[in-house]
Amino acid sequence: MLWEYRSKRNFTHTPEPKGRRRRSAKQPIFVIHKHSASNLHYDLRLEVKGILVSWAVPKGPSTNPKEKRLAIRTEGHPLEYADFEGIIPEGEYGAGTALIWDTGTYRNLKEEDEHVPIAQEINKGHFTFWVEGKKLKGGYALTRMGKGKQWLLVKMQDEEADAHRNPVKTEPKSVLSGRTIDEIETSEK
Ligand code: MN
Repeated sequence: MLWEYRSKRNFTHTPEPKGRRRRSAKQPIFVIHKHSASNLHYDLRLEVKGILVSWAVPKGPSTNPKEKRLAIRTEGHPLEYADFEGIIPEGEYGAGTALIWDTGTYRNLKEEDEHVPIAQEINKGHFTFWVEGKKLKGGYALTRMGKGKQWLLVKMQDEEADAHRNPVKTEPKSVLSGRTIDEIETSEK
């Protein structure tokens, strides 16, 4: 399942984890990496069956249900990646700096009444999930557009929706270390 992730990386050069299956906790986790690579983007990752299913969101998630955010499906990452923060060396895949912008647990909203596993819904191209992060809370919907890798990430209309917040802009720091991208770059060089 991680062959694509591993095939893109040279683990003697990058500090990123190679990935071993890890037993998951009762509640699946999500993590959003802020990743300053050739283009700044936010990697949304959801734990599904022992791996982190991932999307790159160029503008990051919104708390406003009226804003649709493009999300490009990327290769699955190992669960240990949820703890990764640091510098991916130049010349390596995804070179740049990554911090843990938000993390917590999530639940599949549909499973609650219909017991449809999220992996099956992802394959179908539409699902809704509730995140309990430090910055983000509430329901989000991910919907694939056509047959390709492009999806749309939209905040659902619920009590956590807030058109006045803009956490991508106002809360730039790591929830793990409190550091900004710049601070990680200076401290690890
Ligand atoms: Mn990335």
